[in-house]
Amino acid sequence: MPVRSDIIIIGGGIVGLSTAMELVRRFPRLHTQLLEKEDALARHQTGHNSGVIHSGIYYKPGSMKARMCVSGAAEMLEFCRTQGLPHERCGKVIVATHQEELPRLTGLLERGEANGLSDLKILSQEELREIEPHCTGLQALHVPSTGITDYALVSGKYAELITQGGGQIRTKAKVNGVVRGNGEIVIETARESFTAKFVINCAGLHSDRISSLAGDNTELQIVPFRGEYYDLIPERQNLVRNLIYPVPDPRFPFLGVHFTRRIGGTVDAGPNAVLAWKREGYKKTDFSLRDTLAELIFPGFWRMARRNWRSGIGELYRSFSKRAFVTSLQRLVPEIKEGDLVPGGSGVRAQALQKDGSLVDDFQFTCTKNILHVFNVPSPAATASLPIGRAIVKMAEEKFNLSS
Ligand SMILES: Cc1cc2nc3c(=O)[nH]c(=O)nc-3n(C[C@H](O)[C@H](O)[C@H](O)COP(=O)(O)OP(=O)(O)OC[C@H]3O[C@@H](n4cnc5c(N)ncnc54)[C@H](O)[C@@H]3O)c2cc1C
Repeated sequence: MPVRSDIIIIGGGIVGLSTAMELVRRFPRLHTQLLEKEDALARHQTGHNSGVIHSGIYYKPGSMKARMCVSGAAEMLEFCRTQGLPHERCGKVIVATHQEELPRLTGLLERGEANGLSDLKILSQEELREIEPHCTGLQALHVPSTGITDYALVSGKYAELITQGGGQIRTKAKVNGVVRGNGEIVIETARESFTAKFVINCAGLHSDRISSLAGDNTELQIVPFRGEYYDLIPERQNLVRNLIYPVPDPRFPFLGVHFTRRIGGTVDAGPNAVLAWKREGYKKTDFSLRDTLAELIFPGFWRMARRNWRSGIGELYRSFSKRAFVTSLQRLVPEIKEGDLVPGGSGVRAQALQKDGSLVDDFQFTCTKNILHVFNVPSPAATASLPIGRAIVKMAEEKFNLSS
């Protein structure tokens, strides 16, 4: 007999969990079931990120990313405080190291102010040294509201609140079939089937595949970009007090390799952004024929490749050459040497690509009959997970006519 629910959420990362938490809070009489394919929650993007509570400075004013990141950062700090989770509002510096980056730094200041950040400050070289004594640059932007936490722990707390609120979470439940029937959707996993009136697809790196299983043709494809980290050896962690970032290249959605102090006190450097040949490919050598073919036959892939092949080759070179990686970091902290870094972890970003070859910039949610697909929730979606969960549930309430 299939397990019956009112709403099924596919994916136990921070976005699926935040959505489920909001559903049980707003609609306690509906039965909410979350299905996760791994044997534990937060095993992919959510458990492999930098742990930064982003301020919202980078994003286009008025975009969902900007609005939800600014409010989400404040909410995340408050959530961690009230739930007793480790967190710190440590601030960060964005450092201009070349003349041509100075106007972009001013542009970031203006963008941050347009997004409602009122405590930003341009620092001279001397002022920068007071905050980060080993960092050099022509000028820097100080962003005091940036923080750090551990998003796997945050996700664990969301899960606790879901079960306390009456929702159910099943791990080891990989969805391999989505069948629309008469007023019901049947969700198939290897061990059991589930039915629900409504489904919310929060499958991250596989969200486009879940959409295809449901017969919802999508113009988008998820492209995996691996981000690799090095760890600073303990004796050299004193080179970095908090978070040191370069001025991002506006042509790319990634922030450039930077230094991040983790909530546990370690410091890492990265992540780069290398096109991966496997959606959950955490190692350089990971390869999946299925994932690679899917990338290569998607027309948007070749359009993206034509536009970005130079930077793509640069990223690939830096992925294999520690020296090239260190050279990028030395722009920020000249004292860093190859021997100060040891290989660290990695994460794979789910980035939605359109048929015209452009990367989707903003968060993107799409609703077809009875199924809501969350297609693009890259960084800063962990920071913004609380407002994102609320926005998804609001959309579900309207489109599915939910009533409490
Ligand atoms: C390297 C890196 C650094 C980042 N740094 C930051 C940062 O500092 N700050 C920040 O705010 N954001 C950061 N991000 C972004 C952030 O981690 C993601 O935006 C966020 O975790 C997305 O959450 P999610 O729930 O959508 O995806 P995921 O965490 O990937 O969760 C999706 C889940 O769906 C499950 N799933 C997939 N297919 C199926 C299926 N068929 N059946 C059942 N379950 C399925 C997966 O197993 C997975 O658990 C970073 C991301 C990366 C990769």
